[in-house]
Amino acid sequence: MRCEKCGKTIDNNSKFCEFCGEKITKKISLQTPSPEAVFREEEASAENPEARHEIFIGFVWVVIGVVITWGSYSLASDGGTYFVFWGLIVYGVYKIIKGAYHLFS
Ligand SMILES: [Zn+2]
Repeated sequence: MRCEKCGKTIDNNSKFCEFCGEKITKKISLQTPSPEAVFREEEASAENPEARHEIFIGFVWVVIGVVITWGSYSLASDGGTYFVFWGLIVYGVYKIIKGAYHLFS
């Protein structure tokens, strides 16, 4: 290491500079995580919010499917055909199951 006062190279473990007598203070820098480590951590923690997001989207689809089905059912209550949006509901349930699988696996 280098003395901050006189700039001469001194032993790393010196407490005082052997040339000018300057007290050597060691800088303790907190170890900051490397970008790679941060990225890895983000990747790991991003897994659960993504699964929760998927479950949320699944619920939205199920609700939309049920609402449209109920809406068309009430429109056809005095006779006629009504539509059951199984596609939306099944897709929503599929999303929920997929999200839950990611969340608990
Ligand atoms: Zn010095």
